[in-house]
Amino acid sequence: MPISASPSHTPGSGQGRTGTSEPTVTDRLVEANDRYAAAFTDPGMDARPVLKVAVVACMDARLDLHAALGLELGDCHTIRNAGGVVTDDIIRSLTISQRALGTRSVVLIHHTGCGLLDLTEDFRHEIEAEVGQRPAWAVEAFKDLDQDVRQSMQRVRTSPFLPHRDDVRGFVFDVTTGLLREIDPSS
Ligand SMILES: [Zn+2]
Repeated sequence: MPISASPSHTPGSGQGRTGTSEPTVTDRLVEANDRYAAAFTDPGMDARPVLKVAVVACMDARLDLHAALGLELGDCHTIRNAGGVVTDDIIRSLTISQRALGTRSVVLIHHTGCGLLDLTEDFRHEIEAEVGQRPAWAVEAFKDLDQDVRQSMQRVRTSPFLPHRDDVRGFVFDVTTGLLREIDPSS
């Protein structure tokens, strides 16, 4: 959609709070934030993660990383994308995480029922056919979860930009049991 066709977003013109229509989902989030901030006290934390760990995971809505891994506010970096795939942009975030913010360990998490299991690179070609331009990025779809975790571990371990590559572990999270299953990088 061309930018000129977008509705203007001036403060107070949102559909939810001042209009007559139902609140949008974003209105709900903003209202929840009002309550959050009302109870919030400044933890006085440094930006460097307490546990010196970066977790790379799929963006899947069923994956609550903090609850699943017993993490508290300030403990870790969470870096998420579709699939939890180690792309150049994940390497960018990990590089900043390690070099500027002191993390040492990397945990990679894929999961059962991932949307990328149902996609192929045809996704890009279909987009190209629709919009007349092929995306520069790969879909990074996969058929074998374990193998993709291994490939992701390998991409981290071979990145020349990362100073800490000795503690890199990969897992598959089962969305029906909540359990992590570790992937042997060598099998
Ligand atoms: Zn997923």
